[in-house]
Amino acid sequence: MTSITAEGFFGEYGGQFVPEPLKPILNTLAEAFEKYRNDPEFIREYEYYVKHFSGRETPLYLCKNLTETLGGAKIYLKREDLNHLGAHKVNNTIGQILLAKRMGKKKIIAETGAGQHGVATAATAALMGMECTVYMGAVDVERQKLNVFRMEMMGTKVVAAQSGQRTLKEAVDEALGAWIQDAEDTFYLLGSAVGPHPYPLMVREFQSIVGREAKQQILEAEGRLPDCCIACVGGGSNAIGLFSEFIEDKDVALIGVEPSGRGLKYGEHAATLCLGEPGVMHGFNSYMLKDEKGEPAEVYSISAGLDYPSVGPEHSMLKDLGRAEYVYASDKEAVDAFFQLSQMEGIIPALESSHALAHAVRIAPDMDKDAIIVVNLSGRGDKDVAQIEEMVAKGEFELPRMNG
Ligand SMILES: *Cc1c(COP(=O)(O)O)cnc(C)c1O
Repeated sequence: MTSITAEGFFGEYGGQFVPEPLKPILNTLAEAFEKYRNDPEFIREYEYYVKHFSGRETPLYLCKNLTETLGGAKIYLKREDLNHLGAHKVNNTIGQILLAKRMGKKKIIAETGAGQHGVATAATAALMGMECTVYMGAVDVERQKLNVFRMEMMGTKVVAAQSGQRTLKEAVDEALGAWIQDAEDTFYLLGSAVGPHPYPLMVREFQSIVGREAKQQILEAEGRLPDCCIACVGGGSNAIGLFSEFIEDKDVALIGVEPSGRGLKYGEHAATLCLGEPGVMHGFNSYMLKDEKGEPAEVYSISAGLDYPSVGPEHSMLKDLGRAEYVYASDKEAVDAFFQLSQMEGIIPALESSHALAHAVRIAPDMDKDAIIVVNLSGRGDKDVAQIEEMVAKGEFELPRMNG
């Protein structure tokens, strides 16, 4: 059902919409990826590092208290929050950096908005003894001081992009420029299942370990597949990592949850698949949110990891095919779920992951007691505590007490 071509088209989505000089560079990368993705020695090395560096496999955890309170389907969490660095992103940075080494590259470059991908890249580059430069918009450098310092502590050079709006887009432009200048020695490490071919395919491959483990774990725990898998969608990497293993299992519903932020008006959300339309940006064709000129829209979410105006091309295909469903959850619903999991299970989730949880909380009560939901808990919420604390102090949210 999933038609993926050698040129990296997922149906009509994906492809390589890039300047001419980038095409041979991307094609060399695609060839290297094809060569190594099934190479037993390469896979062994990847499995070694995700186990010993990141702590895989991550547990599949049954939320007994939350399940009982909601009175419907059993809610399981795939605990990607227990990875080294606190999220699923390291699965991908390990895979790509091992590929970079096989290709004989000496330098890693990456771009980051909120800084989480930058931190995962910096850590993996330190591990592998690679020189690393991370590009960030100057505005983001200011906003994410602590992540900038984290990267610097691990030996990475952080470059603040000073052109234009000084945000993620300018950081991408500068990083791509640097790559074209020195493609011989440099590997561009992308953080989500987006961008031109082969990145969406490659990132899916390195994140599919999430789905493979979850499938085996749920079969061990319940003796059958889940009724539904739920994940939050920013660029779409943690979602496609979980979904990929279940796409052929037609009875498993796949649900991606996007941020509807403060509301459905322009600029107030980042619900790309729910509210956007197809178009090309950042080198690939996919659903995107546009402004009136057709340029990438301004987007907003309470969670910095979800505010991206496009989305991985495979999700666009799955949406059109009707194989996956995409819904949204607001800031408020995400924060409610954030508190609910914290107080009922003693697990503080990332605000990104809280969007997926919010949808599980919404649908579980109406499902049978023997139904099973698997939620991808993509990250831990330690990084969000200061932000939540400030919002509670300002009276934007109230800290509930659910334990009596
Ligand atoms: C970056 C991030 C996301 C969003 O990225 P995807 O590519 O959509 O997975 C979600 N959750 C956490 C914890 C993140 O750090």
